[in-house]
Amino acid sequence: MIPGTSVAGMIRDVEICEVGPRDGLQMLKGIMLTEKKKAWISALAAAGLPEIEVGSFVPPKLLPQMADAAEIVAHSRTLGSLKVAVLAPNAKGAIRAIEAGAHKITMPLSVSRSHSLANVRKTPDEMIGEIRESARLRGESPSRPIIEAGLSTAFGCTIEGSVAGSEVVRLAVAAIEAGADEVGLADTTGMANPQQIKRVIADVRREIGDRLTGVHLHNTYGLGLANALAAYDAGIRTFDSSQAGLGGCPYAPGASGNVVTEDLVYMFESMGVRTGIDIGKLAEARRIVTEAFPDEPVYGHVPAVGLPKYFSPA
Ligand code: ZN
Repeated sequence: MIPGTSVAGMIRDVEICEVGPRDGLQMLKGIMLTEKKKAWISALAAAGLPEIEVGSFVPPKLLPQMADAAEIVAHSRTLGSLKVAVLAPNAKGAIRAIEAGAHKITMPLSVSRSHSLANVRKTPDEMIGEIRESARLRGESPSRPIIEAGLSTAFGCTIEGSVAGSEVVRLAVAAIEAGADEVGLADTTGMANPQQIKRVIADVRREIGDRLTGVHLHNTYGLGLANALAAYDAGIRTFDSSQAGLGGCPYAPGASGNVVTEDLVYMFESMGVRTGIDIGKLAEARRIVTEAFPDEPVYGHVPAVGLPKYFSPA
């Protein structure tokens, strides 16, 4: 395999989307230089990640780390069959993402009104308007990227506490009616438990079927992998995760990083569920991050202890 390319035609039972370059970097104090970011994304693609969320189209003055998002998208588009995903918090960001050539645009739609106002300064229903406008703009573009509504705080909010399942379902339906292609459920705060994961997935599925595609899980209480397995058992086949467990949300105080990519891949592969990802090559990508941020805490059981002696991937 040529370094920097992902493998086309790889058989996968699940799709793992690496969100470290977006969710991870947005929480770090230091800035990762553009060239380092490109090298990291290339290494992740070379390890077989089918999808990477490479950045977000937010105003650069709010998040200087993401000022190079268009350049990063352009680079990522050269990496074989990699699906290049980005985040856009409104229609203005979606226009920039479309122009940059992203394949998928995730728009955050917080189920919690308080989190939504803090994170994007809009109510959930105002965000539905942004999704509608973005879907319209996408329809007029030649590249026609996928638009995903990422339902943030779908399992609990650090500001409001518990979140009504009925509201998750209502917003999922509203997002699809507004023109979103897909809905993802995000445990932004890491407050979900496996039983809740199964229940909410079933409730949302009942209304929008296969338009519910993925989950985005944080590991705040150490339940990330348990929740991923619960989601898998409930029929989900697309999972966000972050290398070294980087990540968080500036408006979800106390929420820690995402499910660790290395551990998630290991869990699936050890169960015989094919990810198409080479765990050994993930280590090379991880080194780029740990060298860039030597003082940041990094997570992961597999990187800490190594693979079991008799481990053979699925
Ligand atoms: Zn997140």
